[in-house]
Amino acid sequence: MIDRAVVASKNPDKIAEMEAILVDSGIVGALVADLDWPDVVEDGATLTENALLKARAVHAATGLPAIADDTGLEVDALDGAPGVLTARFAGPEATYEDNVTALLSALAGVADRSARFRTVAAFVDGAREVAVEGVLEGRIAPSRRGSGGFGYDPVFEVDGRTLAEIPVAEKNQMSHRSRAVRALADLLRADGGTRTHNGRAPTRT
Ligand code: IMP
Repeated sequence: MIDRAVVASKNPDKIAEMEAILVDSGIVGALVADLDWPDVVEDGATLTENALLKARAVHAATGLPAIADDTGLEVDALDGAPGVLTARFAGPEATYEDNVTALLSALAGVADRSARFRTVAAFVDGAREVAVEGVLEGRIAPSRRGSGGFGYDPVFEVDGRTLAEIPVAEKNQMSHRSRAVRALADLLRADGGTRTHNGRAPTRT
């Protein structure tokens, strides 16, 4: 078990979601809250680079094992955009509202609405750097529906419902983020097992 770790986020919902997966499954003893670190410039070219940038910076600032995530929306008709630019699709200061409006405009009259959310979850503790991803397939609705969630949830449909129409607990079960964090938990569990067994870190090829 990893005794203590920190989540590289100030978002309480994100921290609670990660806690529910990592602490409740016994991978991490406790997540340490109320720590501070300098702002991290997320200028990586990929989600993986950004997740690792954040995890490295927060590990360096706190001395604790750090977990970070980065999410992108990939729209097939836009050749995978906005991708790593998802938070800034409508510009550097864009709000969620602006981004959704820009997305609906970009897809006006477009028949292929297929899209996916991809999250990369990264873990850095000084000895190891790992990054794994979780994906949620869906499609972009013709207009906003539902009142829950955040970001692109009102226009991201899975099996006929937008994520904003799905109760938060149900969304958290199936979300790209929870899939990535579960994959990270599986990887750390496998690593932890090897460590306990051999008394040293596993060899990676
Ligand atoms: P972040 O990497 O978690 O900051 O996410 C980047 C951007 O992706 C956010 O600003 C949101 O616009 C969008 N996003 C991330 N996760 C979700 C989600 O679960 N639903 C809707 N939008 C999301």
